[in-house]
Amino acid sequence: KEKQDFYMEQLINQVLNFLYPSFLNHNINVSKDLACNILFHGYYDEIRQVLINILFNAIEALHAKEKEKKIEILLQKISGGIVITVSNNEPIIEGEVIQTIFEPFFTTKDLGTGLGLFVCKQIIEKHEGTISIHSNENRTIFSIHLPYYEG
Ligand code: ADP
Ligand code: MG
Repeated sequence: KEKQDFYMEQLINQVLNFLYPSFLNHNINVSKDLACNILFHGYYDEIRQVLINILFNAIEALHAKEKEKKIEILLQKISGGIVITVSNNEPIIEGEVIQTIFEPFFTTKDLGTGLGLFVCKQIIEKHEGTISIHSNENRTIFSIHLPYYEG
């Protein structure tokens, strides 16, 4: 498949619609704040996969939480690029080494592959971007930076 032009906010909305039944099932409150008219050039299916992997992890991380399960997704334009932020209100499990999270086969799940975030990193780097994670006692935040120049 070739690179193509697409609106990033449309891709994000498409992924959120696709995952809507899961959010509903798990009682997760999803909020979004998306910049508009971000005409991006890249591999649509791959960027879509990145967002699905991260959102799936967020759903799984919230699984044991009793109430107020929240996921937030933001799309912002910055100089020379865009930032996509996905956060959920549950910390990384204690003892997990945050630096190894993107390594292949790192998983804390019984049936995990540990490949989801590794694949995300590969795809983002293929687009000359970066992906990083921050976690505190309240939430876990994934930030994706991608180069973007308005045409
Ligand atoms: P898998 O989902 O198969 O375990 P991933 O590469 O997708 O593999 O994720 C690796 C690990 O990172 C997970 O097993 C989990 O411990 C941790 N992780 C990823 N996303 C989150 C998150 N949003 N909150 C807490 N832990 C997370
Ligand atoms: Mg995963």
